[in-house]
Amino acid sequence: MVENTSQEEKIIIIGSGPSGLTAAIYAARAGLSPLLIEGFQSGGQPGGQLMTTTEVENFPGFENGIMGPELIERIKAQAQRFQTRFVSEDIEKVDFTSKPFSLFSGSKTWKTHCLIIATGASANILDHPAVKKYWGKGISACATCDGALPVFRNKPICVIGGGDSAIEEAQFLSRFASRIYLIHRRDKFRASKAMQDKLLSNSKIEAVFDSVIEDISGSNFVEIVKVKNVNTGQITEIQAKGIFMAIGHTPNTAFLNNSLELDEKKYIRVKHPTTATSVDGVFACGDVTDPRYRQAISAAGSGCCAALDAEKWLSEKGIE
Ligand code: NAP
Repeated sequence: MVENTSQEEKIIIIGSGPSGLTAAIYAARAGLSPLLIEGFQSGGQPGGQLMTTTEVENFPGFENGIMGPELIERIKAQAQRFQTRFVSEDIEKVDFTSKPFSLFSGSKTWKTHCLIIATGASANILDHPAVKKYWGKGISACATCDGALPVFRNKPICVIGGGDSAIEEAQFLSRFASRIYLIHRRDKFRASKAMQDKLLSNSKIEAVFDSVIEDISGSNFVEIVKVKNVNTGQITEIQAKGIFMAIGHTPNTAFLNNSLELDEKKYIRVKHPTTATSVDGVFACGDVTDPRYRQAISAAGSGCCAALDAEKWLSEKGIE
């Protein structure tokens, strides 16, 4: 049975990463009494991608760095301090055709005058039958969640990707594994110079350029990873107990079912420099709008902007 939460909310924020939580802090301090719906889209838990990140060294205010989950915990505590209300549900469907807007989870519906979407992005997975076969049997997309498991300790491991995440994951895994093969499909990393410098100083990590996964084998767990050089076609066998994916992200916009305007990569289009979307009264912030910067601090900054835009919109509409 579908439960109607009947109360019409002034403002609902969907998403509990740095953008959603920062929007909540601003909206709550403005006396808007926001309801934040925290879902499980990214990494199977609320809090977004920072929940599966290790040390964050570039968030201002933490000169010695802070662990991703602790940063989220602290921003959430700040939002709670100003009476943000939280519910844990994945929103599966929206209806923006009439006002107030309707939001639907599997069992509940909410009505709201104003909406901030901060649903972030989720890790991509290689589309290869062997990856499906060995998923959870040595293959993961989260080094922080799985990297320290006994099965990977002092064993060789592969990381796939050439961006900042791939290098970060490789660095993290090198604490436990005996050797890391960082497999990248091109001859140059996409990662920032600072990240690449870290890699150079880590003797446990070996970069394998111009290479893709050809096949994976093992009796019940990953044991051998066949890697193909895309230039020569040569296949190399790597004895590895694990494979960690770090090949980018997809914005969490499927639940919107094209109810508002998205770009060609399915990120929500906002009317820069504001956070307004193509639907009047719906604002968006953080990684769900941002294929370019994707930093915790830029997400938090746009969360602030979304709350300010929403506050102004509510006041202009006389919804107090
Ligand atoms: P990304 O920058 O999009 O990099 C994805 C990597 O995966 C690229 O090297 C890409 O190869 C590769 N890739 C994509 N699809 C693939 C496929 N099907 N097969 C093989 N390889 C594939 O993603 P990210 O590393 O997750 O970073 C996302 C954003 O977060 C970036 O803006 C990054 O700067 C930021 N970030 C920052 C930090 C930090 O500062 N501490 C840490 C993590 C992430 P190509 O290069 O060939 O396209």
